[in-house]
Amino acid sequence: MKKNISLKSHNSFGVDVISKEFYNIKSEDQALKVLNLLKEKKIIILGGGTNILFTDDIEKPIINIKIKGIKIIYESNNSVHISIGAGEVWDEFVRWAISKNLGGVENLISIPGFVGAAPIQNIGAYGVEIKDVLISCSGFLIENLEKKKFKSIECEFSYRSSIFKKSLKNKFIITEVVLKLSKNKHKIHRAYKSLDDVIKNKKIKNPTIKDIGEIVSDIRKYKLPDPSLIGNSGSFFKNPIVSQDTLTRLKERFSGLVFYKENRSKYKLSAAWLIENCGFKKIKEKNVGVYKNQALVITNLGNATGKEIYSFSQKIKSTVLEKFDILLEEEVNII
Ligand SMILES: Cc1cc2nc3c(=O)[nH]c(=O)nc-3n(C[C@H](O)[C@H](O)[C@H](O)COP(=O)(O)OP(=O)(O)OC[C@H]3O[C@@H](n4cnc5c(N)ncnc54)[C@H](O)[C@@H]3O)c2cc1C
Repeated sequence: MKKNISLKSHNSFGVDVISKEFYNIKSEDQALKVLNLLKEKKIIILGGGTNILFTDDIEKPIINIKIKGIKIIYESNNSVHISIGAGEVWDEFVRWAISKNLGGVENLISIPGFVGAAPIQNIGAYGVEIKDVLISCSGFLIENLEKKKFKSIECEFSYRSSIFKKSLKNKFIITEVVLKLSKNKHKIHRAYKSLDDVIKNKKIKNPTIKDIGEIVSDIRKYKLPDPSLIGNSGSFFKNPIVSQDTLTRLKERFSGLVFYKENRSKYKLSAAWLIENCGFKKIKEKNVGVYKNQALVITNLGNATGKEIYSFSQKIKSTVLEKFDILLEEEVNII
């Protein structure tokens, strides 16, 4: 255990706060030992810190899950089941899968963070979510240290959410994730417009999973700031899901509104469009602003504190509410 360490290198916003008690966990046995030791205390589980905003020094013990290991545990003619330690870096796993010609996660390339956190908010990008390939998540219930495996259906996945972000928030430590990837006849997901545009422009007739990975990786480099250069946590808010009535009301008042059909009766609004249309691309407060190529990304432009970033995010939230009567919901975990 380390005492009083800076969390600056443990969160992609680069916020400099102190952790009073910090535990590196490298195996399930070690996780059990530490959880036993901390039985009565509330804890914070940390992966790569790319979806967290620390607003103050952290008194509660932090458990940083660093459990490694990638293993094929089942193989058929067409697919493999792969067990991955929660502490593996997600993007490194995706690149490994592509290099082995295993398909299913290529659209999720370049998403920062660890494998164990990926199911928490059901990471998604370019038309694919982890739920599409996830078989199970295993780990420990913190209150009684019971080992548990959640099958995909039990994870209650939805847009940027799961049971681990709702009823089991901070109550379950994921130590292992099992995914099913294809060995051949890969399903290519190219419907997402900006991805399809590049495929067409490059005149690629039958894109491979390697092509998809390369194209998505390139698009992301342009759209999103590299956290090692500009502190950020990706999308700060979720895209709001609204009814047909709300959509009609907004379309009547705001031309150019950007939205997508979510299902039969619901629509997803572009939160970036709402934020941009409140003028936030031109507003900076202290060392905080939104990214020039994507207004949904709040950036730390210098040595911003977590409180300053949070306060800026709440200003965005109240301005969008006032102008559009839409309440944005944070995607980032505020601590
Ligand atoms: C530049 C950038 C781009 C991004 N793009 C995307 C994107 O396209 N799509 C997307 O969905 N997300 C995106 N994100 C958000 C982020 O990368 C993902 O949410 C990622 O899965 C977070 O992983 P992490 O290990 O950093 O989690 P952390 O930030 O460490 O933790 C996130 C949450 O998960 C909990 N948690 C972490 N590990 C565990 C565990 N082992 N067991 C139980 N709970 C745990 C934490 O307590 C916390 O509540 C982006 C972030 C950045 C900075």
